[in-house]
Amino acid sequence: SALVEDDDTPVRWFRVNTLKITHIDTFLEKHFSHLTEVNSISKIKPGTIYKDQYIPNLYGIHPTTKLTSMHPYVLGQVIIQDRASCFPAHMLNPSSEEKVIDACAAPGNKTTHLATYVKNAKGQINAFERDIKRAGILKHMVERAGASSVTVNVGDFTQSNPTDFPLVTGMVVDPSCSGSGIFGRAYDEDDKEESYSEERLLKLSAFQATIVKHAMSFPAVQRIVYSTCSIHAQENERVVVDLLNDEKVKERGWRVANRSRVIPMWPRRGLVEEFQGKVEFPERVAGGCVRAMPKEDGGIGFFAVLFERDASEEELKL
Ligand code: SAM
Repeated sequence: SALVEDDDTPVRWFRVNTLKITHIDTFLEKHFSHLTEVNSISKIKPGTIYKDQYIPNLYGIHPTTKLTSMHPYVLGQVIIQDRASCFPAHMLNPSSEEKVIDACAAPGNKTTHLATYVKNAKGQINAFERDIKRAGILKHMVERAGASSVTVNVGDFTQSNPTDFPLVTGMVVDPSCSGSGIFGRAYDEDDKEESYSEERLLKLSAFQATIVKHAMSFPAVQRIVYSTCSIHAQENERVVVDLLNDEKVKERGWRVANRSRVIPMWPRRGLVEEFQGKVEFPERVAGGCVRAMPKEDGGIGFFAVLFERDASEEELKL
């Protein structure tokens, strides 16, 4: 079997957990002052640290730099999370007053990242996870991160009743995918072929569209981030096309947000050719999506899109 060594990881990304650390500079000075700051990810080597320009409080270090044995890691003051995997919470950008749902939450990277925006204040995060074992890991991570605004629901999100959540206005939907953007996993070549077969990708994309459609039916929801760690258009742009052409989705006024709201400076966007002839304003729709290529873009392969709609007064008052 083809084992990709961990050394293949170009950058180890970690974010400072602002639920636990409020004075970031003092914290960095205390624990990371032995590292020299560099101004580009291509310059990251042992003994250096890089401050990301897209995601607040996110840092890149060389993968050989010890982190998991450090106190700040054990205490949940820093959380190891790939840069692209930080895009969804940043794109949703919930306020501290907002009620949001993380539909597919375990192990909880995005849930705990969302919690740093909601800030353990008035807002609330309902996290769903249908796998009992993984829900246990999620609970553990939520606790370690000190994310007291999070409630874990063990169960299938598609079976949840939208009217039970009349005040939820934002969602992150990060469902199971082929994982084709992930590297460093011990994939068997045969497994790999099976994982990325057209048949499997179609099955996954049908499930992914179903779960986002359910999210889109919640009465007061106005923003949804859909994401995958897949590089396959079937699970990404084609799911967006499917959704934008769905009658119920159209009726409720869902559209893809403008690039200006979706990490505008990130250069790699959705694939325009996947939208051409299939949706209105393909360039605009592609601009509302972000993509990351594995390794080349400093981490895992990833896709994310922000959907939005204007809810009526009546819907918001439910
Ligand atoms: N968002 C997570 C993070 O950043 O740590 C990763 C989520 S992982 C890609 C997908 C998760 O969704 C899996 O743990 C899977 O068990 C869960 N899942 C899949 N279908 C689900 C459903 N219908 N309801 C709730 N959870 C589901």
